Amino acid sequence: MLLAEFSPIAAIATTSTAAKKLQSLSEISTIWLPDSLTSVTEAQFYTGSLKTHLASLWNTHRAFVFCLATGAVVRLIAPLLQHKSSDPAVVVIDEAGKFVISLCSGHQGGADKLAQLIAHLIGATPVLTGAASGLGLPAVDIIGVPFGWQRGEGNWTEVSSAIANNQPVQVIQSAGSILWQQGVIKDQGSENESSEFWIPNSNSLSITPKAKIYITPSLSPLASRLSPPQVHWHPRVLWVGIGCERRTSQQLIETAIEQVCQEHQLAESAIAGIATIDIKADEVGLLQVCRNRNLPLKTFTSDILRSIDVPNPSAIVAAEVGTPSVAEAAALSAANVSSLVVNKQIFRAEGQPGAVTIAIAQAEQEYTGRTGQLLLVGTGPGQLNQITPAAQVAISGADAVIGYSLYINLIAPLLQPNQIVEALPITQERQRAQRAIELARWGLTVAVVSSGDSGIYGMAGLVLEELQAQGWDGKTPSVQLFAGITALQAAAARVGTPLMHDFCAISLSDLLTPWEVIEKRLKAAAEADFVTALYNPRSQTRKQQLASAISIFLKYRNPNTPVAIVRSAYREDEQITLTTLDKLLDTSVDMLTTVLIGNQSTRTHGDWMITPRGYLGFGGDSQERLEASSS
Ligand code: SAH
Repeated sequence: MLLAEFSPIAAIATTSTAAKKLQSLSEISTIWLPDSLTSVTEAQFYTGSLKTHLASLWNTHRAFVFCLATGAVVRLIAPLLQHKSSDPAVVVIDEAGKFVISLCSGHQGGADKLAQLIAHLIGATPVLTGAASGLGLPAVDIIGVPFGWQRGEGNWTEVSSAIANNQPVQVIQSAGSILWQQGVIKDQGSENESSEFWIPNSNSLSITPKAKIYITPSLSPLASRLSPPQVHWHPRVLWVGIGCERRTSQQLIETAIEQVCQEHQLAESAIAGIATIDIKADEVGLLQVCRNRNLPLKTFTSDILRSIDVPNPSAIVAAEVGTPSVAEAAALSAANVSSLVVNKQIFRAEGQPGAVTIAIAQAEQEYTGRTGQLLLVGTGPGQLNQITPAAQVAISGADAVIGYSLYINLIAPLLQPNQIVEALPITQERQRAQRAIELARWGLTVAVVSSGDSGIYGMAGLVLEELQAQGWDGKTPSVQLFAGITALQAAAARVGTPLMHDFCAISLSDLLTPWEVIEKRLKAAAEADFVTALYNPRSQTRKQQLASAISIFLKYRNPNTPVAIVRSAYREDEQITLTTLDKLLDTSVDMLTTVLIGNQSTRTHGDWMITPRGYLGFGGDSQERLEASSS
């Protein structure tokens, strides 16, 4: 579901005009109205004061959308606010529906994002007043969210304000994805995948940082935490390998993890998950630890563990479970690396049953803990206002946007400062599909954009084919398609109603389809009198196909058959030519053009192309006209 990250959302209004404004949000939220407005459908009703009612909703909702005066909202929420790290997102829409204000919990609660998404949905302007949003700066308290990083210790307010005030802030990143850096250090060139850099950009070594951002699985020593103000993001890269005796208590395992982390200055929130041997998959204490900490448990067979080189193999363990190492080998396997951050340590505690062995390895890539989504989005022929609101929300809300550079440029206004944007050249469709799947499998919400409709000679097909080839289960990552206005519809809309009767689309590109197949379809379409849209009619290297197509049509259709040649529909360089089948080749046709060939009843009227709805009735007998016009 779109906006799932904000669910549940409560939308609140107190007048019937305001209630109507909220109707379009009924699919994504529960609409609450006073019981004096029960005539409105698709809503819930509260009795008594809104203040009391709001208090009852406050802790169970992640977002609130008010269609109410801002002043009233401020008074209502003031007594309920606690801290920006826990408060729900609060968004206000004005009664006229012109503005969507991100009022509270802009970053961490996601109100900025929610305001933008709702603004797209209802065609309003989002109002964001957070310092970072205005300047296109990274919002330090949300940069790690797409990757599942955990916020660690730090003075978030001071570091954010240093960034907002353009003071030199040093970033020290020793783990986790560097994709977020794209928007921050784009001026420094792509080879600069640095682990240390400055915001704003600077190469100078002599600056004194006014704030620091650490992205690391480690904790800083206490002494260095004082000055300058700093924050810690912890990517979940640590895999904790655990071996334990039967019935080892949850508490002992917890204590062991805490102690090892403390001793090695590792953040517990940087733990990706727990790894062990498969025969421990039902070990109660281990399962409790995983549930408590919301960690995945990865298990490996003794065969796999035995094949891993470890620093401290044990003959006793080998005799017992068939592998000389459980903790070390499992940590290395889970992290998919060859050396450990912490070699194995054994813990026992007086009065507690069992013993536990712990080792830690650090993975190259963090575990996001998120389920990825692929949003296959059609962006229509060109202009922004030709994209459906649902597709706009999908693009703006995605963690990453992937597409052919021309289309990425066309949708640039929808992109967000913290989004990962990967524009690839037109030739690399398959790579684009694979990249999108890779990011989604990792846990990101990825929008793959295609012009027109994504499922019509677009990227959606490639993504689904590729998923199938990879043995996809049909569910994870989840896939959603967002229909777009395809070229034939856009072209038709510019010239009238050429598609009023049965029509078909044929692509003249023989890169992926043998020409014999295309020829067969052209012949069938021409013979059966389909109005025909030709996609990919001509490229710089493919020039013959269009002429062949025309000669096929001329065998079955009158030379005077109206033809529309529409180039770059709804883009700045749009060109429209109405002509006839026999003169088609006089007009230049290229890869940005769609050719619409009328059926035997299609006619022109002024600058319009009209295909009658029926073959009988108004307009007379078509056979008669065909004969009349060809004589
Ligand atoms: N998925 C796209 C089609 C991609 S194939 C869609 O549904 O529209 C590319 C072909 O689409 C181009 O060669 C051209 O024939 C047609 N096309 C795409 N955008 C167009 C536009 N704005 N105006 C005219 N034709 C267009």
